[in-house]
Amino acid sequence: MSFDYNVLTIDPMTQLPIGACDHQQSFERYVVNQDDFRTLNYAGNPSINMRAPINGASHVQMWIHGQQVYSDDPTYGWTVVQDPNRVDLTTQDTFFKIVFNRPVRIVLPLIEVSYITRQDYCLKCSATGSLNDFKVAASGDFLKVTQGNKLAQKLLKWVLCSQCPFYPSFTCAIKSYIGKKLGIQITDTDIQTEVVNSLGTMQQVQNAQGTVQTLQPQEILKDIVSVTATTDPSNPTAVKVAAVVSNYSGQTVPTGFTIRMNS
Ligand SMILES: [Zn+2]
Repeated sequence: MSFDYNVLTIDPMTQLPIGACDHQQSFERYVVNQDDFRTLNYAGNPSINMRAPINGASHVQMWIHGQQVYSDDPTYGWTVVQDPNRVDLTTQDTFFKIVFNRPVRIVLPLIEVSYITRQDYCLKCSATGSLNDFKVAASGDFLKVTQGNKLAQKLLKWVLCSQCPFYPSFTCAIKSYIGKKLGIQITDTDIQTEVVNSLGTMQQVQNAQGTVQTLQPQEILKDIVSVTATTDPSNPTAVKVAAVVSNYSGQTVPTGFTIRMNS
């Protein structure tokens, strides 16, 4: 896995979100209601119509057996109408449903629908609003990450997902804490110690890397300024970890993550 492509959700230097989610839901499966042969029901739960609210009827697209079917199709044309039977009482969201203009009696049709929903219902970003996925630059290539942002991304990847069956001492044990009980098997001090140790090994590896490869001064970890791990006062199973490191261009690079454990 390359560290060169930008998968950060927020810019650590400006704290602004990058890679905002468009909440596009792609190819959800639907079935035709067997009473009226016109209304679509969500295949995963046929007692409802749409899985999530539609945000913009003009962005709805439908495919039948892989063939895109437009709303003005003479045989399979469809309309987006309000679903008066479903209201979310907490969010007050209005739901819609898709209705064929004429009955559709194909045996076992494969119906797929793509649409834009609202953040609370988005499966693409899990309602977080941003994606830690490859980002596409204006040129069409994947966006590369450089300098201080690269250091922050490398640090997060090192702590959260480093793996090496041959040199396990160069990896971070935080992943192995999954499923353990906070306060009994693992404490916030253990988490803090593990992050400090891993950053130390990352520094050693970068020093070795620098002897065979040119690194930008901004992407090299110089000093670990601070690492804190504190239990969230409103949630005793969550530990907020914040780390600040410095690089060789005199900047400090902040980063952080939250880890939730079993209670
Ligand atoms: Zn989303």
